[in-house]
Amino acid sequence: MHQFHYRDGILHCEDVNLQLLAAEHGTPLYVYSANTLRENYQRLDQALTGLDHHIAYAVKANSNLSVLRLLAGLGSGFDIVSGGELFRVIKAGGNPALCSFAGVGKTAEEITYALEQGIYCFNIESLAELEFISSVAGNISTVAPVALRINPNVDAGTHKYISTGKAENKFGIDHESVREVYARASKLPHIQIRGIQMHIGSQLTSATPFVEAVERVLPLVSDLQASHDLEFFSIGGGIGIVYEEALASGPPDWWTRQEEPPLSPEVYAHHLVPLLESLNLKILLEPGRYMSGNAGILLTTCLYEKKGQAKAFKIVDAGMNDLIRPALYDGHHEIVTVRECDVTNRITADVVGPICESGDFFCQDREVPDFAKGELVALMSAGAYSFTMASNYNSRPLPAEILVSGATAQIARERQTFTDLVAGEH
Ligand SMILES: *Cc1c(COP(=O)(O)O)cnc(C)c1O
Repeated sequence: MHQFHYRDGILHCEDVNLQLLAAEHGTPLYVYSANTLRENYQRLDQALTGLDHHIAYAVKANSNLSVLRLLAGLGSGFDIVSGGELFRVIKAGGNPALCSFAGVGKTAEEITYALEQGIYCFNIESLAELEFISSVAGNISTVAPVALRINPNVDAGTHKYISTGKAENKFGIDHESVREVYARASKLPHIQIRGIQMHIGSQLTSATPFVEAVERVLPLVSDLQASHDLEFFSIGGGIGIVYEEALASGPPDWWTRQEEPPLSPEVYAHHLVPLLESLNLKILLEPGRYMSGNAGILLTTCLYEKKGQAKAFKIVDAGMNDLIRPALYDGHHEIVTVRECDVTNRITADVVGPICESGDFFCQDREVPDFAKGELVALMSAGAYSFTMASNYNSRPLPAEILVSGATAQIARERQTFTDLVAGEH
Protein backbone atom coordinates (compact mmCIF):
# COMPACT_ATOMS: atom_id res chain seq x y z
CA MET A 1 0.00 0.00 0.00
CA HIS A 2 1.44 3.35 -0.91
CA GLN A 3 0.70 6.74 -2.41
CA PHE A 4 2.69 6.82 -5.64
CA HIS A 5 0.39 7.08 -8.66
CA TYR A 6 0.04 8.66 -12.08
CA ARG A 7 -1.97 11.80 -12.38
CA ASP A 8 -2.33 13.58 -15.75
CA GLY A 9 0.37 11.30 -17.14
CA ILE A 10 2.98 12.15 -14.48
CA LEU A 11 4.00 10.05 -11.48
CA HIS A 12 3.07 11.78 -8.24
CA CYS A 13 3.91 11.13 -4.62
CA GLU A 14 0.66 12.01 -2.88
CA ASP A 15 -0.14 15.43 -4.43
CA VAL A 16 3.41 16.26 -5.48
CA ASN A 17 4.44 16.11 -9.14
CA LEU A 18 7.70 14.17 -9.21
CA GLN A 19 8.92 15.71 -12.46
CA LEU A 20 8.78 19.18 -10.90
CA LEU A 21 10.31 17.89 -7.68
CA ALA A 22 13.27 16.37 -9.55
CA ALA A 23 13.70 19.58 -11.55
CA GLU A 24 13.97 21.50 -8.30
CA HIS A 25 16.22 19.16 -6.33
CA GLY A 26 18.11 17.20 -8.97
CA THR A 27 18.71 13.45 -9.14
CA PRO A 28 19.41 10.94 -7.74
CA LEU A 29 16.70 11.85 -5.24
CA TYR A 30 14.97 9.80 -2.56
CA VAL A 31 11.29 10.65 -2.04
CA TYR A 32 9.20 9.38 0.87
CA SER A 33 5.45 9.53 1.40
CA ALA A 34 4.50 10.57 4.93
CA ASN A 35 0.93 9.37 4.54
CA THR A 36 2.09 5.93 3.46
CA LEU A 37 4.18 5.70 6.62
CA ARG A 38 1.21 6.80 8.71
CA GLU A 39 -1.14 4.34 7.04
CA ASN A 40 1.31 1.47 7.42
CA TYR A 41 1.76 2.17 11.12
CA GLN A 42 -1.94 2.59 11.79
CA ARG A 43 -2.98 -0.42 9.75
CA LEU A 44 -0.68 -2.74 11.67
CA ASP A 45 -1.66 -1.16 14.97
CA GLN A 46 -5.35 -1.61 14.17
CA ALA A 47 -4.92 -5.19 12.99
CA LEU A 48 -3.61 -5.98 16.47
CA THR A 49 -6.47 -4.33 18.35
CA GLY A 50 -7.33 -6.39 21.39
CA LEU A 51 -3.79 -7.66 21.85
CA ASP A 52 -1.65 -5.81 24.41
CA HIS A 53 1.03 -4.74 21.96
CA HIS A 54 3.53 -2.07 21.07
CA ILE A 55 5.21 -1.33 17.74
CA ALA A 56 8.95 -0.63 17.84
CA TYR A 57 10.01 0.51 14.36
CA ALA A 58 13.36 -0.96 13.27
CA VAL A 59 15.42 2.18 12.72
CA LYS A 60 17.98 0.59 10.42
CA ALA A 61 15.40 0.32 7.62
CA ASN A 62 15.19 4.11 7.26
CA SER A 63 16.72 6.31 9.93
CA ASN A 64 16.10 9.78 8.52
CA LEU A 65 15.17 12.14 11.38
CA SER A 66 11.97 13.21 9.61
CA VAL A 67 10.83 9.60 9.33
CA LEU A 68 11.66 8.89 12.97
CA ARG A 69 9.92 12.07 14.13
CA LEU A 70 6.77 11.13 12.21
CA LEU A 71 6.68 7.64 13.72
CA ALA A 72 7.49 8.90 17.23
CA GLY A 73 4.50 11.22 16.84
CA LEU A 74 2.27 8.21 16.18
CA GLY A 75 3.45 6.61 19.42
CA SER A 76 5.98 4.24 17.93
CA GLY A 77 8.86 2.81 19.92
CA PHE A 78 12.15 1.96 18.23
CA ASP A 79 14.30 -1.09 17.69
CA ILE A 80 17.90 0.11 17.51
CA VAL A 81 21.13 -1.69 16.67
CA SER A 82 23.76 0.93 17.52
CA GLY A 83 24.50 3.94 19.68
CA GLY A 84 24.21 6.11 16.58
CA GLU A 85 20.64 4.95 16.02
CA LEU A 86 19.75 5.79 19.62
CA PHE A 87 21.24 9.25 19.09
CA ARG A 88 19.04 9.69 16.00
CA VAL A 89 15.89 8.58 17.85
CA ILE A 90 16.54 11.05 20.66
CA LYS A 91 17.38 13.82 18.17
CA ALA A 92 14.05 13.13 16.43
CA GLY A 93 12.12 13.44 19.68
CA GLY A 94 11.65 9.70 20.21
CA ASN A 95 11.41 8.28 23.71
CA PRO A 96 14.47 6.23 24.81
CA ALA A 97 12.21 4.43 27.28
CA LEU A 98 10.53 2.86 24.22
CA CYS A 99 13.82 1.69 22.66
CA SER A 100 15.10 -1.88 22.49
CA PHE A 101 18.77 -2.35 21.68
CA ALA A 102 19.51 -5.40 19.49
CA GLY A 103 22.67 -6.67 17.81
CA VAL A 104 25.44 -9.16 18.49
CA GLY A 105 28.29 -6.68 19.01
CA LYS A 106 27.35 -3.90 21.40
CA THR A 107 30.39 -1.99 22.68
CA ALA A 108 31.05 -0.64 26.20
CA GLU A 109 30.51 2.93 24.95
CA GLU A 110 27.19 2.04 23.34
CA ILE A 111 25.98 0.13 26.41
CA THR A 112 26.91 2.99 28.73
CA TYR A 113 25.20 5.56 26.50
CA ALA A 114 22.03 3.43 26.31
CA LEU A 115 21.99 2.93 30.09
CA GLU A 116 22.41 6.65 30.66
CA GLN A 117 19.52 7.37 28.30
CA GLY A 118 17.30 4.85 30.08
CA ILE A 119 16.36 2.54 27.23
CA TYR A 120 13.60 -0.03 27.68
CA CYS A 121 15.64 -3.14 27.08
CA PHE A 122 18.85 -4.70 25.82
CA ASN A 123 18.20 -7.75 23.66
CA ILE A 124 20.96 -10.17 24.62
CA GLU A 125 22.54 -12.31 21.94
CA SER A 126 25.04 -14.38 23.99
CA LEU A 127 26.09 -15.32 27.52
CA ALA A 128 29.31 -13.32 27.07
CA GLU A 129 27.29 -10.22 26.21
CA LEU A 130 25.02 -10.71 29.23
CA GLU A 131 28.01 -10.85 31.58
CA PHE A 132 29.58 -7.82 29.92
CA ILE A 133 26.44 -5.68 30.10
CA SER A 134 26.13 -6.56 33.78
CA SER A 135 29.69 -5.36 34.41
CA VAL A 136 29.21 -2.15 32.43
CA ALA A 137 25.99 -1.44 34.35
CA GLY A 138 27.89 -2.14 37.59
CA ASN A 139 30.55 0.40 36.64
CA ILE A 140 27.96 3.15 36.63
CA SER A 141 25.98 1.67 39.53
CA THR A 142 22.87 0.93 37.62
CA VAL A 143 20.81 -2.05 36.50
CA ALA A 144 20.40 -3.07 32.86
CA PRO A 145 16.95 -4.28 31.76
CA VAL A 146 17.35 -7.26 29.40
CA ALA A 147 15.54 -9.77 27.24
CA LEU A 148 17.24 -12.82 25.81
CA ARG A 149 17.01 -13.22 22.06
CA ILE A 150 16.12 -16.79 21.34
CA ASN A 151 17.08 -18.44 18.09
CA PRO A 152 14.11 -20.71 17.38
CA ASN A 153 15.92 -22.54 14.55
CA VAL A 154 13.25 -22.09 11.89
CA ASP A 155 13.72 -21.47 8.19
CA ALA A 156 12.28 -18.08 7.29
CA GLY A 157 12.29 -19.06 3.61
CA THR A 158 13.95 -15.81 2.60
CA HIS A 159 17.32 -14.81 1.10
CA LYS A 160 20.19 -16.30 3.10
CA TYR A 161 21.62 -12.83 3.83
CA ILE A 162 18.41 -11.79 5.57
CA SER A 163 17.65 -15.05 7.41
CA THR A 164 18.43 -14.78 11.10
CA GLY A 165 16.53 -17.52 12.91
CA LYS A 166 18.42 -20.66 11.91
CA ALA A 167 20.92 -22.45 14.14
CA GLU A 168 23.76 -21.54 11.76
CA ASN A 169 23.07 -17.79 11.97
CA LYS A 170 25.10 -15.62 14.33
CA PHE A 171 21.95 -14.29 15.99
CA GLY A 172 20.31 -15.21 19.27
CA ILE A 173 20.80 -17.86 21.90
CA ASP A 174 19.93 -21.41 20.93
CA HIS A 175 16.74 -22.84 22.27
CA GLU A 176 18.54 -25.44 24.38
CA SER A 177 20.68 -22.94 26.32
CA VAL A 178 18.04 -20.29 26.97
CA ARG A 179 16.88 -21.57 30.39
CA GLU A 180 20.45 -21.71 31.64
CA VAL A 181 21.20 -18.17 30.48
CA TYR A 182 18.02 -16.89 32.16
CA ALA A 183 19.08 -18.62 35.36
CA ARG A 184 22.44 -16.89 35.12
CA ALA A 185 20.79 -13.53 34.36
CA SER A 186 18.64 -13.82 37.47
CA LYS A 187 21.78 -14.10 39.59
CA LEU A 188 23.64 -11.12 38.13
CA PRO A 189 23.33 -8.08 40.40
CA HIS A 190 23.19 -5.48 37.65
CA ILE A 191 20.71 -7.26 35.40
CA GLN A 192 16.94 -7.06 35.48
CA ILE A 193 15.10 -9.59 33.35
CA ARG A 194 12.34 -7.88 31.42
CA GLY A 195 11.35 -10.07 28.51
CA ILE A 196 12.10 -12.51 25.74
CA GLN A 197 12.75 -11.72 22.10
CA MET A 198 13.13 -13.34 18.69
CA HIS A 199 13.56 -12.17 15.09
CA ILE A 200 13.74 -14.85 12.42
CA GLY A 201 14.46 -12.85 9.28
CA SER A 202 13.33 -10.22 6.85
CA GLN A 203 11.03 -9.99 3.83
CA LEU A 204 8.85 -12.95 4.90
CA THR A 205 5.91 -13.30 2.55
CA SER A 206 3.93 -15.89 4.48
CA ALA A 207 2.74 -16.17 8.08
CA THR A 208 3.88 -19.79 8.30
CA PRO A 209 7.47 -19.26 9.53
CA PHE A 210 6.23 -16.74 12.13
CA VAL A 211 3.64 -19.21 13.38
CA GLU A 212 6.18 -22.01 13.43
CA ALA A 213 8.66 -19.91 15.41
CA VAL A 214 6.08 -18.69 17.91
CA GLU A 215 4.71 -22.20 18.41
CA ARG A 216 8.21 -23.48 18.99
CA VAL A 217 9.03 -20.96 21.73
CA LEU A 218 5.62 -20.67 23.42
CA PRO A 219 6.12 -23.59 25.84
CA LEU A 220 9.47 -22.13 26.83
CA VAL A 221 7.97 -18.68 27.35
CA SER A 222 5.21 -20.05 29.61
CA ASP A 223 7.81 -22.02 31.48
CA LEU A 224 10.06 -19.01 31.99
CA GLN A 225 7.10 -16.93 33.15
CA ALA A 226 6.77 -19.27 36.11
CA SER A 227 10.27 -18.56 37.37
CA HIS A 228 11.07 -15.07 36.05
CA ASP A 229 9.33 -11.74 35.98
CA LEU A 230 8.67 -11.36 32.26
CA GLU A 231 6.93 -8.24 31.02
CA PHE A 232 7.04 -8.73 27.26
CA PHE A 233 7.57 -11.09 24.35
CA SER A 234 8.96 -9.50 21.21
CA ILE A 235 8.24 -11.39 18.01
CA GLY A 236 10.63 -9.24 15.97
CA GLY A 237 10.11 -7.78 12.53
CA GLY A 238 10.20 -9.39 9.11
CA ILE A 239 6.83 -8.68 7.48
CA GLY A 240 7.53 -8.65 3.73
CA ILE A 241 6.34 -6.15 1.15
CA VAL A 242 5.49 -6.31 -2.56
CA TYR A 243 8.54 -5.51 -4.67
CA GLU A 244 7.68 -7.37 -7.78
CA GLU A 245 4.66 -8.00 -9.90
CA ALA A 246 4.28 -10.40 -12.77
CA LEU A 247 4.32 -8.14 -15.79
CA ALA A 248 3.71 -10.89 -18.30
CA SER A 249 0.54 -9.30 -19.58
CA GLY A 250 -0.80 -5.82 -19.41
CA PRO A 251 0.86 -2.63 -18.30
CA PRO A 252 3.42 -2.41 -15.53
CA ASP A 253 0.99 -0.84 -13.18
CA TRP A 254 1.18 -2.67 -9.89
CA TRP A 255 1.45 0.64 -8.07
CA THR A 256 -1.84 1.81 -9.50
CA ARG A 257 -3.51 -1.54 -8.93
CA GLN A 258 -2.45 -1.35 -5.28
CA GLU A 259 -2.30 -5.10 -4.96
CA GLU A 260 -2.68 -6.65 -1.58
CA PRO A 261 0.68 -7.72 -0.21
CA PRO A 262 1.14 -11.48 0.18
CA LEU A 263 1.39 -10.98 3.92
CA SER A 264 -0.96 -8.17 4.92
CA PRO A 265 -1.05 -6.90 8.51
CA GLU A 266 -4.50 -8.46 8.80
CA VAL A 267 -3.31 -11.90 7.70
CA TYR A 268 -0.31 -11.63 10.01
CA ALA A 269 -2.55 -10.66 12.93
CA HIS A 270 -5.11 -13.32 12.07
CA HIS A 271 -2.50 -16.05 12.46
CA LEU A 272 -0.53 -14.67 15.38
CA VAL A 273 -3.00 -12.97 17.71
CA PRO A 274 -4.76 -16.21 18.75
CA LEU A 275 -1.39 -17.73 19.66
CA LEU A 276 -0.22 -14.74 21.65
CA GLU A 277 -3.24 -13.36 23.46
CA SER A 278 -3.33 -16.00 26.18
CA LEU A 279 0.23 -15.25 27.29
CA ASN A 280 -0.56 -12.30 29.50
CA LEU A 281 2.53 -10.51 28.22
CA LYS A 282 2.96 -7.30 26.30
CA ILE A 283 3.74 -8.24 22.68
CA LEU A 284 6.35 -6.15 20.92
CA LEU A 285 6.73 -5.98 17.14
CA GLU A 286 9.77 -4.62 15.34
CA PRO A 287 8.75 -3.95 11.74
CA GLY A 288 11.22 -2.07 9.54
CA ARG A 289 10.73 -2.90 5.88
CA TYR A 290 6.94 -3.18 6.29
CA MET A 291 6.78 0.37 7.59
CA SER A 292 8.96 2.24 5.13
CA GLY A 293 9.75 -0.04 2.17
CA ASN A 294 6.90 0.94 -0.12
CA ALA A 295 6.85 4.48 1.27
CA GLY A 296 9.91 5.53 -0.71
CA ILE A 297 11.33 5.66 -4.21
CA LEU A 298 14.61 6.69 -5.79
CA LEU A 299 14.37 9.08 -8.73
CA THR A 300 17.16 8.89 -11.26
CA THR A 301 17.85 10.32 -14.72
CA CYS A 302 18.92 8.34 -17.77
CA LEU A 303 22.38 9.57 -18.82
CA TYR A 304 23.11 7.36 -21.80
CA GLU A 305 21.88 4.41 -23.77
CA LYS A 306 24.46 1.91 -24.88
CA LYS A 307 23.96 -1.04 -27.18
CA GLY A 308 26.59 -3.62 -26.37
CA GLN A 309 27.23 -6.66 -28.51
CA ALA A 310 25.29 -8.89 -26.16
CA LYS A 311 23.04 -6.49 -24.32
CA ALA A 312 21.30 -3.16 -24.23
CA PHE A 313 22.26 -0.92 -21.32
CA LYS A 314 20.51 2.10 -19.89
CA ILE A 315 22.95 4.09 -17.80
CA VAL A 316 21.34 6.18 -15.07
CA ASP A 317 22.75 8.71 -12.60
CA ALA A 318 22.03 6.58 -9.50
CA GLY A 319 24.44 3.82 -8.62
CA MET A 320 24.93 0.92 -6.25
CA ASN A 321 26.38 3.41 -3.76
CA ASP A 322 22.92 5.03 -3.60
CA LEU A 323 20.92 1.78 -3.62
CA ILE A 324 22.80 -1.46 -3.04
CA ARG A 325 19.95 -3.95 -2.61
CA PRO A 326 20.15 -5.44 -6.13
CA ALA A 327 23.92 -5.95 -5.81
CA LEU A 328 23.85 -7.12 -2.20
CA TYR A 329 21.01 -9.61 -2.21
CA ASP A 330 19.28 -9.67 -5.54
CA GLY A 331 16.85 -7.04 -4.34
CA HIS A 332 14.16 -6.23 -6.87
CA HIS A 333 12.96 -2.71 -7.65
CA GLU A 334 10.31 -2.00 -10.25
CA ILE A 335 11.59 0.52 -12.80
CA VAL A 336 9.09 2.96 -14.25
CA THR A 337 9.25 6.25 -16.08
CA VAL A 338 7.91 9.33 -14.33
CA ARG A 339 6.20 10.37 -17.58
CA GLU A 340 3.57 7.70 -18.15
CA CYS A 341 4.77 6.00 -21.31
CA ASP A 342 3.36 3.80 -24.04
CA VAL A 343 3.19 0.39 -22.39
CA THR A 344 4.02 -1.41 -25.62
CA ASN A 345 7.30 0.47 -25.98
CA ARG A 346 9.47 -1.89 -23.94
CA ILE A 347 12.92 -3.37 -24.29
CA THR A 348 14.96 -6.07 -22.57
CA ALA A 349 17.89 -4.26 -20.99
CA ASP A 350 20.21 -3.84 -18.02
CA VAL A 351 19.64 -0.63 -16.09
CA VAL A 352 23.02 0.25 -14.60
CA GLY A 353 24.75 3.01 -12.67
CA PRO A 354 28.02 4.89 -13.23
CA ILE A 355 30.04 2.97 -10.59
CA CYS A 356 33.14 1.05 -11.62
CA GLU A 357 31.78 -2.35 -10.60
CA SER A 358 29.99 -4.95 -12.69
CA GLY A 359 27.67 -5.44 -9.69
CA ASP A 360 26.42 -1.89 -10.22
CA PHE A 361 23.02 -2.67 -11.73
CA PHE A 362 19.37 -2.15 -10.85
CA CYS A 363 18.18 -4.93 -13.12
CA GLN A 364 19.63 -7.34 -15.63
CA ASP A 365 17.93 -8.69 -18.74
CA ARG A 366 14.62 -7.29 -17.64
CA GLU A 367 11.83 -5.94 -19.79
CA VAL A 368 11.69 -2.24 -18.96
CA PRO A 369 10.23 0.86 -20.62
CA ASP A 370 12.45 1.84 -23.56
CA PHE A 371 13.45 5.18 -22.09
CA ALA A 372 16.12 7.45 -23.59
CA LYS A 373 18.70 9.96 -22.44
CA GLY A 374 17.19 12.63 -20.20
CA GLU A 375 14.19 10.55 -19.13
CA LEU A 376 13.34 10.66 -15.42
CA VAL A 377 12.94 7.18 -13.98
CA ALA A 378 11.72 5.86 -10.61
CA LEU A 379 13.11 2.86 -8.75
CA MET A 380 10.11 1.81 -6.69
CA SER A 381 9.96 0.44 -3.13
CA ALA A 382 13.19 2.13 -2.09
CA GLY A 383 12.10 3.32 1.35
CA ALA A 384 13.82 0.59 3.41
CA TYR A 385 17.42 -0.61 3.45
CA SER A 386 18.09 1.84 0.66
CA PHE A 387 19.36 5.26 1.72
CA THR A 388 20.52 3.74 5.03
CA MET A 389 22.93 1.52 3.11
CA ALA A 390 24.16 4.29 0.81
CA SER A 391 27.86 5.11 0.77
CA ASN A 392 30.28 7.58 -0.76
CA TYR A 393 31.93 4.89 -2.91
CA ASN A 394 33.53 6.40 -6.02
CA SER A 395 33.44 9.70 -4.08
CA ARG A 396 29.83 10.28 -4.92
CA PRO A 397 27.93 12.67 -2.63
CA LEU A 398 24.90 11.10 -0.92
CA PRO A 399 21.59 11.99 -2.59
CA ALA A 400 19.04 14.32 -1.03
CA GLU A 401 15.94 12.93 0.69
CA ILE A 402 12.50 14.54 0.48
CA LEU A 403 9.49 13.87 2.68
CA VAL A 404 6.15 14.52 1.00
CA SER A 405 2.91 15.01 2.89
CA GLY A 406 -0.09 15.92 0.78
CA ALA A 407 0.99 18.78 -1.49
CA THR A 408 3.99 19.67 0.69
CA ALA A 409 7.52 18.50 -0.01
CA GLN A 410 10.18 19.08 2.63
CA ILE A 411 13.90 18.44 2.42
CA ALA A 412 14.52 15.65 4.90
CA ARG A 413 18.23 15.61 4.12
CA GLU A 414 20.31 17.95 1.96
CA ARG A 415 22.26 16.54 -0.94
CA GLN A 416 25.92 16.20 0.03
CA THR A 417 28.48 18.49 -1.56
CA PHE A 418 32.08 17.77 -2.57
CA THR A 419 33.14 19.61 0.60
CA ASP A 420 31.04 17.18 2.68
CA LEU A 421 32.90 14.34 0.99
CA VAL A 422 36.22 15.33 2.54
CA ALA A 423 34.91 16.66 5.86
CA GLY A 424 37.05 15.34 8.70
CA GLU A 425 39.85 14.13 6.44
CA HIS A 426 43.47 15.18 6.93
C1 LIG B 1 16.43 -5.75 11.12
C2 LIG B 1 15.66 -6.13 12.33
C3 LIG B 1 14.29 -5.95 12.38
C4 LIG B 1 13.48 -5.41 11.21
O1 LIG B 1 13.36 -6.32 10.18
P1 LIG B 1 12.35 -6.02 8.96
O2 LIG B 1 12.47 -7.20 8.10
O3 LIG B 1 12.81 -4.78 8.31
O4 LIG B 1 11.00 -5.87 9.54
C5 LIG B 1 13.63 -6.26 13.56
N1 LIG B 1 14.29 -6.75 14.63
C6 LIG B 1 15.63 -6.96 14.61
C7 LIG B 1 16.29 -7.50 15.81
C8 LIG B 1 16.35 -6.66 13.47
O5 LIG B 1 17.67 -6.87 13.44
